[in-house]
Amino acid sequence: MGHLIPLLELAKVFADLHHNFHVTCIIPTLGFPSKAMTTVLEALPTSIDHVFLPPVNSEDLHTLHPGLQISRTITLSLPSLRDVLKSLVATNRLAALVVDLFASEALEVAKELRVSPYVFAATSAMVLSLLLHMPKLDETVQGEFRELPEPLKLPMVHTNSRQRSYFKLNGMSGDLSHVTLPTLGFPESHELSPPHQHRPCLSSSSELGGPPHSTPCCHYSVGCFVVDPFAIEALEVAKEFGVSPYIFEAVSATVLSLLLHMPKLDETVQGEFRELPEPLKLPGWPIPIQGRDLIEPLQDRKRKNYKALEVLAGDGSPPIFPIGPITQTGSSTNHVDESGCISWLDKQPSGSVLFVSFGSGGTLSFDQLTELALGLELSGQRFIWVVRSPNNGPADAAYVSNQSHQDPLAFLPNGFVERIEGQGLVVPSWAPQPRILSHGSTGGFLTHCGWNSTLESIVSGIPLIAWPLFAEQRMNAVLLTEDLKVALRPKANEKGLIEREEIAKVIKDLMASEEGALSELASKLASN
Ligand code: UDP
Repeated sequence: MGHLIPLLELAKVFADLHHNFHVTCIIPTLGFPSKAMTTVLEALPTSIDHVFLPPVNSEDLHTLHPGLQISRTITLSLPSLRDVLKSLVATNRLAALVVDLFASEALEVAKELRVSPYVFAATSAMVLSLLLHMPKLDETVQGEFRELPEPLKLPMVHTNSRQRSYFKLNGMSGDLSHVTLPTLGFPESHELSPPHQHRPCLSSSSELGGPPHSTPCCHYSVGCFVVDPFAIEALEVAKEFGVSPYIFEAVSATVLSLLLHMPKLDETVQGEFRELPEPLKLPGWPIPIQGRDLIEPLQDRKRKNYKALEVLAGDGSPPIFPIGPITQTGSSTNHVDESGCISWLDKQPSGSVLFVSFGSGGTLSFDQLTELALGLELSGQRFIWVVRSPNNGPADAAYVSNQSHQDPLAFLPNGFVERIEGQGLVVPSWAPQPRILSHGSTGGFLTHCGWNSTLESIVSGIPLIAWPLFAEQRMNAVLLTEDLKVALRPKANEKGLIEREEIAKVIKDLMASEEGALSELASKLASN
């Protein structure tokens, strides 16, 4: 869902706001689609429709790692995908096929049907870099990767300093037209690119991958090519075809600023960054809380001197155009209240409820789940908690299904559900998050700091408790607590466990600040 949701929101931007595209979402499924998925899809505007491909036989796949389940599902779905695409080609002017990174095999079908192929990669750059190099590693490394005596050295990750992977971003900056930056709070500035005087295109008669055709309008007109930072190498192809290249940085301004400064830091800092005696000081940090201060000068394209850009990235960097936030809103989801969250919230006092959720697939260990339950109870605060079954393995184990295989409520402490009646509501696996965050009774959000959740909370003016689990969530947590100062962060003990007393304290501090600084700052951010 963390991939599908931003992709659908991007589809809405294309369909409604800018280009009057009609969008068809083609969705392969493993078993039956989750309830969460059908709810989001059914709430789409009429300009976006969806087709579920016939479910592949899930029996054999459930034992596989989540990533393998997804890729196998795609492979098995290719024949039915081909049928659907063929019918679209026959009845419509099919402009392009945009696929998630996990579905890149589907590009073969696009090639076959001569449809312009695009990949939307909603992953971190490090992960994609590693994935792209896997086949080579597989050939060259003997035995298990974990047994390697030295850190891996990848072409995009030159040394054991992971930050070096961004070297390439800067190295290519001379070739790039634009970097797009989703930023906080400028819905009116949704704009993907400056108008194109010249629209290079692929002729319908040329093979994909063949030479570009210069006729400025035809069936397969390609205006621009947008890549995730991990797919930056793909810009070579854009260059080859004379198509405008863009990088879509799905990160905060603080993170972007850090990435752009990496090469310089890499030159000047000796040894590992983690060994630095002082916190890093970058020009322009902390990023001004009034996003407008940062972005307005960027939007004045006549100005040669992009002041705010200098702050962000120094001289010689490409222009930055804000296109975000790309978020779901409370009204964009279905109005049926199956979980009962909205009717429960309707009965609670204004700003009194803490919403607790770890995204579409984040899970806690059994011990941590217990501490969280008892901490919520101890705080005495009202809450809605989306509970997922515990897992002592990876925290992203529930990513594929977004659902727990066992009843998650069965893992809660004895008598917990009865004791918290009236104080809290526990919801298994999934809740209508954007509607909850935009409800007047919600006053705080305990979150894993996924970027979608972060933006959804901010646009609703809700202060947060930052509880990052994996990936870039820790950087988002630092942004929220230290730069924007709209979040509190609980401390873990020496075993990495956040104890019930600490949880209760942070919750009380957050909710007690309802009329206070945190909440005020959160509303200020939202109105900006
Ligand atoms: N979400 C939801 N209900 C839930 C859990 C998640 O609607 O119970 C949505 C949430 O609103 C967000 C997305 O799923 O849009 C999760 O994306 P995010 O980037 O926050 O985290 P990820 O799931 O990718 O870790």
